[in-house]
Parts: sequence; C-alpha cells; structure tokens
Amino acid sequence: MHEMSLAMAVVGQVQEAAARNGDVSAVTSVRLQVGELAGVVPDALAFCFELACADTVLQGAELVTETVPGRARCAPCADEWAVGMPPRLSCPTCGEPTAELLSGRELQIVSVRWEDGQAPERTREPMYEEH
Ligand SMILES: [Zn+2]
Repeated sequence: MHEMSLAMAVVGQVQEAAARNGDVSAVTSVRLQVGELAGVVPDALAFCFELACADTVLQGAELVTETVPGRARCAPCADEWAVGMPPRLSCPTCGEPTAELLSGRELQIVSVRWEDGQAPERTREPMYEEH
C-alpha cells in the first residue's frame, strides 16, 4: 500500500529530526506537500499516518497536506498548462505528446511543529522522487 509506506517514511523522518533536536516531548503537526500526480489519496494517507504515529513521539500529531497542482511544459512551443486529473500530457497547442512535468510529483515534508513552544523547525528535504 503506497500510502502506508509513505506515512511510515514521513514518521521515520520526523522521528529522526526530533531525535536530532534532543528535547522533543511531542510532535503536534506535520505539514506535507503532496503533488497532484504523486498518486497519493489524502484520506488514505491521513488514516495510515495516524496508524504509523501510534506509540511514537508523533502520537496524535495532525497531518496537514498541501496539494501541489501538476503543471507541464511543451518543449517545442514552450506552452505551459495545468495537467489536471486524469493528467493530460500532450500539448494543448501543438499536440506534442512529450510534455515535461514541471510540478505535481512532490512528496516532501514542509514543516514540523514540536510541542515545546519553540518556533517550528522547517525542513525541506525531498523524501524521494519517482521518475
Ligand atoms: Zn506544444
């Protein structure tokens, strides 16, 4: 299940960051950028995230997902368009089928909020990229 492995990867990264920080009693929220084309179902991810957080420092943490719209560009005519869902990867102007994806495959933690009243730590580490 894609969402479960993603949720566990997110929890693992936050646990590592919390361990590096040293004095984290609880994680209250995790903000995640999810590309429209990343193949992630937000509801399923939220469910898996809750499961993955059980018995960790993230227990009860809120998952906030930001959807990143998919955009593509056509090399021959430099046209850009919103890919949408299901994705349209041929150029609306010239019909060229070799679109270059500019965005929409993001899967990354944007920020994590600890429960110690300090400013949230901001991270921008790409988790993994699917090609
Ligand atoms: Zn074109």
